[in-house]
Amino acid sequence: MRVPSEPLEPFRRGGGRALMLGHVHPDADVLGTLLALGLALEPRGWTVTYGGPHPAPDSLAFLPGIERYQVLTGVDGRFDVAVLTDCPNPARTEGLIDAARRTAGVILNVDHHPDNRQYGDVNWVDPTAAATGEMVHALLAALDLPLTPAIATNLFTAIHTDTGSFRYSNVTPETFRIAGELVAAGADPAAVSSALYERRPAEGLRWLGETLARVQVSDDGQVAWLPLPPGAVPESFVEAEDLVNYPRSIASVRVACLLRARGDEVKVSLRGKGDVDVNRIAARFGGGGHRNAAGCTVKGPLETATRDVLAAVRDALAGTAADP
Ligand code: AMP
Ligand code: MN
Ligand code: MN
Repeated sequence: MRVPSEPLEPFRRGGGRALMLGHVHPDADVLGTLLALGLALEPRGWTVTYGGPHPAPDSLAFLPGIERYQVLTGVDGRFDVAVLTDCPNPARTEGLIDAARRTAGVILNVDHHPDNRQYGDVNWVDPTAAATGEMVHALLAALDLPLTPAIATNLFTAIHTDTGSFRYSNVTPETFRIAGELVAAGADPAAVSSALYERRPAEGLRWLGETLARVQVSDDGQVAWLPLPPGAVPESFVEAEDLVNYPRSIASVRVACLLRARGDEVKVSLRGKGDVDVNRIAARFGGGGHRNAAGCTVKGPLETATRDVLAAVRDALAGTAADP
């Protein structure tokens, strides 16, 4: 992967102050890349602050350096550079980017979402990257920053989760080449898989059973959805489980949806297979994402959100031919 010179420029100086700013409901791609870049810069004379609008989920407590990631309500002090990774839309900082703009010399936007809004002073957006982790790996190499086991573990986890454990259609030969380098540098694939997928509490399988019993499938088998009312199962469980993958795993399904009610809104996750562009469905509700994985938030109760999203899914399916 070729790194343009502009995103390297802010780090060419001998050191300084950097803000690593995360997006709402941070996942492993954003946290792993912010931590990897920050941990690589610190020995080079940089003072780094890590944070965002929401806390890191418990399920990612194993990421090296995660204890440094804070919930920010504002941005204090001056920064030479503020870095946002994996964040396509400035609104996904809940206003923190506005504070960062006032206090940081440069806003650097590094992302792989095709609908990135190019909101930075410097924008490096590569939708061919399976994860922002691939891009930050290239950025570190271009800056001659060494991969420690802690840095490698953060980047490996970022790539692992965004590729569904190297199973999705975004995986390329480059993904495996980078993953190989990260493992050689000290990332432990078995330990990462175990930390991500084998940390269920004993009640977890019962919650999983109760949750999966809610999956519904359309008569033609092409759409499966999982509506989750508030308080049905603990939030920490929902965050740790990739629940939308279960409806997606049905052979006939072309679009899968997870609809999680919380407060007066519903968080929707969409997954597509083949030629259905779920990003366009999410965009109709003000959301976004990737061609095969996208999301949005819909105001109102679970029943109406489910009805409206399924209608939009039907429209999208009507516009594409079924896979042969
Ligand atoms: P998720 O279903 O939450 O795992 O998200 C899948 C993809 O959709 C990720 O790339 C997210 O960045 C994107 N996404 C999820 N929710 C939203 C939203 N409300 N607005 C914009 N993009 C979203
Ligand atoms: Mn993300
Ligand atoms: Mn990502």
